[in-house]
Amino acid sequence: MKMTDKKLNNLEDVLTHSLTVLDDGFVRLVDFMGDDSSIVQAARVSYGEGTKKVSEDRDLIRYLMRHRHTTPFEMCEIKLHVRVPMDCWRQWIRHRTASVNEYSTRYSIAIDAAQKTDPQKWRIQSKSNKQGSDDFLNNEDGEFLSKREKEIQEKCREIYDERLNYSVAREQARKDLPLSTYTEAYWKIDLHNLLHFLELRLDEKAQYEIRQYANVIGNEIVSRWVPITWEAFKEYRLNAVHLSETEIKILSMMYTNDINSVVGFMKECGWLEEAGEILKPKGETREFGEKLIRLGIPIPWKK
Ligand SMILES: Cc1cc2nc3c(=O)[nH]c(=O)nc-3n(C[C@H](O)[C@H](O)[C@H](O)COP(=O)(O)OP(=O)(O)OC[C@H]3O[C@@H](n4cnc5c(N)ncnc54)[C@H](O)[C@@H]3O)c2cc1C
Repeated sequence: MKMTDKKLNNLEDVLTHSLTVLDDGFVRLVDFMGDDSSIVQAARVSYGEGTKKVSEDRDLIRYLMRHRHTTPFEMCEIKLHVRVPMDCWRQWIRHRTASVNEYSTRYSIAIDAAQKTDPQKWRIQSKSNKQGSDDFLNNEDGEFLSKREKEIQEKCREIYDERLNYSVAREQARKDLPLSTYTEAYWKIDLHNLLHFLELRLDEKAQYEIRQYANVIGNEIVSRWVPITWEAFKEYRLNAVHLSETEIKILSMMYTNDINSVVGFMKECGWLEEAGEILKPKGETREFGEKLIRLGIPIPWKK
C-alpha cells in the first residue's frame, strides 16, 4: 500500500505501507530486529547490572552515542525494500556495510519507470561547491528541460524495447537505459552503520535525491523504531557542531584578542587571502563561517 493520506502513528503502520520518495520511488520496511532496549541490554554486559529505569536507559544510550561506543547499536538490524533511480542508487551502494540484493536487469526486463524532474526543480550548478547546486532555473527554461527529459527517457525506453523485440539479450539491451531508470533492492543494515549512512546522506551537502530517501528512513522509520537512539543521534551527531583544532584556536582568540590579530592569525594559517579590498576565505574557512552562523557568532573576516 502506498503512503497517501494515512497518518503513520507507530512502527506497525510503517510496516504495512510503502513510503513514497521522489516521484515513483519508495522505501518499505520489510523487517527489523531489536529496539532501544537491545542496545541497553548489550551495553550492560560491559557496564554491569544496576541501572534499570527508563530514564537511566535513556542516559546510557546518550552516553554511548556521545562517546562513540558503537557496537551496542549493531545489535539492531533493519531490512528495507527500496525503489531508487540508478544515479541515486550508485551513491547509496557505496555504503559497503549493508547486505544488498538488487533487481536483476540481466534476468528481468528493466523497470519501466524513470525519475522525472518538475520544471521548477532544475538546479543550477553551484559556483562555490563543485559537487553542489544553488537555486533553480527559471520556469520557462525548466519547462523546456522537462520536455526534453521526457523525450530522451521515452526514446531510450523505445530503443530498449526494440532491442528486446529483436531478441537481444536483456544484459546487453539495457546498456543505454538512462541513470534515471528506477531499480529496486532489498537492503539490510545494522543500526550503527545505518546511522553513519544517515549522517552522511542527511547532510545538506549530500545530493537532494538521496537526501529525500535518508529523510524518510530517518524521520519516518528510525524515529519510530528506536526513538531514544534517534533523539541521541540528532543531539550528538546530526545537529551537533564539530570544531577542528584551528577552529577552536580562532574561536578562543575571538574572545581574547582584537579582530586584527584574529584575521592576522587566519592569514598566517592560509585561511584568508588578501584580494584587493576584500579578504577571500578558502573552502574550509567558509565551512567554519557556516558553523559560526549556527552558533550565532559574527564572522570575523566579513567587514
Ligand atoms: C557528500 C559526498 C560526496 C562524495 N563524493 C564522492 C566522490 O566524488 N567519489 C567517490 O568515489 N565517492 C564519493 N563519496 C562516497 C564516499 O567516499 C564513501 O564511499 C561513501 O560515503 C560511503 O562511506 P563509508 O565508506 O564511510 O561507508 P561504508 O562503506 O558503509 O563503511 C562504513 C565504515 O566501515 C569501514 N569500512 C568499510 N569498508 C572498508 C574497507 N574496505 N576498508 C576500510 N574500512 C572500511 C570504514 O570505517 C567506513 O567509514 C561521497 C560521499 C558523500 C557523502
